[in-house]
Formats: sequence, structure tokens, C-alpha cells
Amino acid sequence: MSRVYNFCSGPAALPEAVLKKAQAEMLDWHGAGVSVMEMSHRSTEFMSILASAKARLTRLLNINEDYDVLFVQGGASTLFAQIPANLAAGFDSACYLDTGAWSSKAIKEAQKYTTVNVVASSKSQNYTTVPEFSSLTLDESAAYLHLCPNETIGGLEFADLPETNLPIVADLSSTILSRNIDVSKYGLIYAGAQKNVGPAGVVICIIRKDLLARCNDSLPTVWNFAHLAENDSMINTPPTFAIYLADLVFEWLEEQGGVDAMEVMNIRKAETLYEYIDQSTFYANPIDPAYRSRMNVPFTLANESLESLFLEESEAAGLRTLAGHRSVGGMRASIYNAMPMEGIEALIDFMRGFEKRHG
Ligand SMILES: *Cc1c(COP(=O)(O)O)cnc(C)c1O
Repeated sequence: MSRVYNFCSGPAALPEAVLKKAQAEMLDWHGAGVSVMEMSHRSTEFMSILASAKARLTRLLNINEDYDVLFVQGGASTLFAQIPANLAAGFDSACYLDTGAWSSKAIKEAQKYTTVNVVASSKSQNYTTVPEFSSLTLDESAAYLHLCPNETIGGLEFADLPETNLPIVADLSSTILSRNIDVSKYGLIYAGAQKNVGPAGVVICIIRKDLLARCNDSLPTVWNFAHLAENDSMINTPPTFAIYLADLVFEWLEEQGGVDAMEVMNIRKAETLYEYIDQSTFYANPIDPAYRSRMNVPFTLANESLESLFLEESEAAGLRTLAGHRSVGGMRASIYNAMPMEGIEALIDFMRGFEKRHG
């Protein structure tokens, strides 16, 4: 068996130490005589795992007591609908910022529940940049402002938030825990687990408690954030194994020095890769340098006809899943927390060699 460097955008690479720990605990979790997958979600064992995951995430992101941490079933796409259903009832509209494929999808789903006001879009610039926040006009009576600070497909990331009194709702699926954020600036943060947290099937949802008053009883019970909060994310059976793996990833993050240490590493990894791409005439990245993603690095080859060969040879060299999203083409290296610096170095070595052979 040999593990490769996995650049998949999601489900993405997990820290090897986490997989090994899960493997060691697979048949008999802490003397329970069963695996986590086989135990009641109401057992004291699983309740301790859930509590641990919640406590670790709360520490890692410095979440204060104004917020509830929920583990929601489904994907981030589920929350595209669940969020307007919960938070926009009783409001005339919700504001959305459009910076790429994922914010566009969130907009489409929200339109089924409320009037969506797209306050700015960088679509005409092919989503290579972020609209100026200073020119935004936000209707302060809207339900919230939604944005996606890391566009996983386009490879676009921004850290600053617009000035507004509206609750900011952010899709952090591909950037959560990769850099420091000030949770108190947000009304709701959500993130599908399979990029930076764990296996697919669970979504982290951090919600400011005052917003729970908006969630009305006509919602399906399992969709209702207020009910989820009251029942500690256990209205029904939660995705127990995904939550357990997330807890192991949070433990690993704490051992690495937390989000601060990850951010330092992630800056180094991304800068090294972008620097290499920029000095080359064979590879290019189309994104405004001010907004390049630290997590998802798309790049094109000067000669498009070499793309399939690039993928074939990189795969053979132990560099997996470098194809860009089917909607944009080209290449994309997703370099989340679990990707070590050695993976970046191996990728650059390969890219240099490929350019030499075919450039
Ligand atoms: C992957 C991703 C999604 C979709 O996640 P699913 O869990 O597949 O629904 C949504 N938003 C962003 C930013 C993503 O990266």
C-alpha cells in the first residue's frame, strides 16, 4: 500500500494520523467492544464524542457563548435552501454577493424561498476578482447578507467582510479552520465537512443564538435550526461516524498548534505554489493576485492540448486528482490543511519536469 498526494477538492485528503487512529479504534472504540458506527447515538460513548467535537471546534475558532454549534446532516448544498427557509421567513428579501460558482448556486436555491437581491457580482470579470465592498448598497431591512469567502471552483478567496448591520451568513466549506476568522462578525457560518473537516455527510453550522428566534414551526422539524439547537443536533440519528472523524481532525489540529499554526503553513504552501506558477511561462493562474485562494489553486497550461497528458503523467507520479472542475477545465490543486508542504514540493517538481519535457 502506498498513499499518494491527493489534491482532490472534496472529499479531500484527511491527515494520515487521523486515518490511522480511526483504523486503530475501528473494531473496538475505547473498550466499548464495538465501532463508533455501531453504537447508539444516545449512548454515553457517542454523546462524549459529540461533546468533544463541539468543545474542540469551539476552542479552535474561539466561539463565544452567543453562538450555537450544530452538526447538520446533508451537504452545504442542503444549507443553500435550509438557510433562507430558516432565516428569511418574515423578511422581504435577502442579500447575496455573487463571486463564483458556489455563491451562484446558493442564490438559485435561495430564490425558491425569498426575493434575492444580488448586491454585487464579479461575473462579468469571469469571477477572477471580488467586487469593491465600498460601492455596495445593502438594504438594511433584508434578512441577511450571504457570501462565500472561498470559491472552491474558481480559486478565489477574500478575508475582509463588508460593513453592515445585517447578519453575515458565510459559506466557509473550503476555508474553515485554514485561517483565523472572527466568528463574532458573523450571523451564521456553515461548512460542508468534506473539504477541511472530515468525511462527507455532515455540515458544521455556527449560528448566533438570537437568529434562532426566526426559525418557525412550519419548517420540517429536522430542518429547523432552533430545534437542532434545542436537541443538541440530535433530533434524529446524526451522521455519527462523520462527527467522530471530525472530532479526530479537530484533535489533530490542536496538536498541530491550532488555526494559527495552520494559517502560517497554508500561507507558505500557497505562496510557494503561486510563486512557481508566476515565474513560469508555461503555467498561469487567472485570479486577481489580491484574491487568490490559499486552499484551491487553479492553473492552466500554455498549451491546452497537453492537459490530458499532464493529468495522466501526474497521476502516475503519485499526484492525484489535479483536474479542474468540469465547469471551468484546466487544472486545480486543492491544498487544504491535510496537505503537507512535501506535497506542494512534489507537485512543483513534477510541474517543472513536465514543462521541461513538453514546454
Ligand atoms: C463543496 C462546496 C459546496 C457543496 O458541498 P456539498 O456538501 O457537496 O453540498 C458548497 N459550497 C462550497 C464553497 C463548497 O466548496
